[in-house]
Amino acid sequence: MNILIINAGSSSLKYQLMDPDTGVVSAKGLCERIGIDGRLNHKVGDNKIVKDIPMPTHSEAIAATLAILVDEVDGVIKSTDEIDAVGHRVLHGGMEFFDSCIINDDVITAIKKCIPLGPLHNPANLMGIEACQKVMPTTPQVAVFDTAFHMTMPPKAYRYAIPTEYYKNDSIRRYGFHGTSHKYVARRTAELVGKKEFKMVNCHLGNGSSMSAVKDGKCQDTTMGLTPLAGVPMGTRSGDIDAAVVQFLCNKYGYSVDECLNILNKKSGVLALSENLSSDFRDLENGASEGNESAALAREKFCYEVAKYVGAYTAAMNGIDVLTFTAGVGENDGGVRAGVCEYLGYLGVKIDPELNKKRGTELKISTPDSKVEVWVVPTNEELMIAQDTAELVKAAK
Ligand code: ADP
Repeated sequence: MNILIINAGSSSLKYQLMDPDTGVVSAKGLCERIGIDGRLNHKVGDNKIVKDIPMPTHSEAIAATLAILVDEVDGVIKSTDEIDAVGHRVLHGGMEFFDSCIINDDVITAIKKCIPLGPLHNPANLMGIEACQKVMPTTPQVAVFDTAFHMTMPPKAYRYAIPTEYYKNDSIRRYGFHGTSHKYVARRTAELVGKKEFKMVNCHLGNGSSMSAVKDGKCQDTTMGLTPLAGVPMGTRSGDIDAAVVQFLCNKYGYSVDECLNILNKKSGVLALSENLSSDFRDLENGASEGNESAALAREKFCYEVAKYVGAYTAAMNGIDVLTFTAGVGENDGGVRAGVCEYLGYLGVKIDPELNKKRGTELKISTPDSKVEVWVVPTNEELMIAQDTAELVKAAK
C-alpha cells in the first residue's frame, strides 16, 4: 500500500510516500515558497533534487509533488493510481474530532469551524486538503488531528477554572498538541513492554515540548493547553506562566496583547533563560560545559519543570509504570534525560548511565532494579498518520 502523507503549512507543504505496513518511505520532500515563487525539494534515498517550479497556490505544489512522484527518472511510482490514500496532518480538531477520519464535506465544514482555535495552521491544512481533492478527486483523503489523542482527557483535566460561558460558548479548554506523536509512542511502548494496561508519562521534548499522562493507552492529561504555548518551557516558548504577566507587560511597555504573546511564543523559553544564547539544546549543552551560567540555568530549569510534571502526572494516575522520552531532545540529549530522572529517585527511577549515553535509538535505559521502566522511543508521526489512514481506508472498503 502507498500512503501519501501531507503536512501543509501556510507557505510550505511537506510530503512523504510511505508503506504503512513496513514504514518504508519511498520518497519525501518539501514544497516551499508557495505563494511567493515556488521550490520543490525532493528526496529518494540519498538522491536530492531541487527544482524551481511556480507555485502560486497549494494546488500547484500538490501538482508538482505528484508530477515528481511519477517522473520517469526521479519518481518512485508509475501513476498516481498507485497512491491508495492521502493522510493529512491537521493541527486543531477542537471539540469536533476525537479521532482521525475520512474527509467528506461535513469534515471540511467541521475543520473550518475549528479555525478560530488554530488560526494559522487550520486554513493552511485545509488548502492542502482542497488542493489534493482537486488533483486526485477519487483518492480517499484522511484527516489526522494533533489534538485528537488527548480527547480522552476527563473534564477535571481539560476544563479551565474560568467562567463556564467561555467553555460553552467559545470552546475554551485544554486541548493539547503533538497528539500524533504521543499516540505513536504510547502504542509503540505498549509493544515494547508487552502489555496494554499500564500507566506511563511520555515526554515529547523537542523545540516544542509537551508531556502526556497515559493510562491503558488513553490520554489522561497533557501539558499544552488551548494553544501550544502552555506547559514546560520550550525552545522559544515560555510554557506555563501567570496570565497577569501579560497585563503587567502590556501596561508597562505599551505592548498590545498580540505583541506580548509574540514575546511569550518566540522570544522566551530556554532562548530567553540562556540570555539569547540559543534555543537549541546542543548549543546550551556546549555553553554550559564552557561555564556559561545562563545556559546551565536554562537546561536546569527545563529538567526541573519536566520532572515536576512527571510527579504531577504520577499523582494524577496514582502511579507510574513507564517513563518515555521522545523527539529531538528526548531522543538525543542524555544530559536532559539524566537531569529529569535525578529528581525521580523517590519513585524508584534508576537509569543506567552507559545506556543513557546512546542517541536516537529505541532503548530501555533504566536498570533492571528500577521501579519504573524508562525508555527512549523515537517518535514517528508520519508512520502514525500512514497507519491511521490505511486503517480507515481499509475499514471503509
Ligand atoms: P520540533 O519541535 O521542531 O519538531 P525536534 O523534535 O526536531 O523539534 O527537536 C529539535 C531540538 O532537538 C533541537 O532544537 C535540539 O535542541 C535538539 N536536538 C536535536 N539533536 C540533538 C542532539 N544530537 N543532541 C542534543 N539535542 C539535540
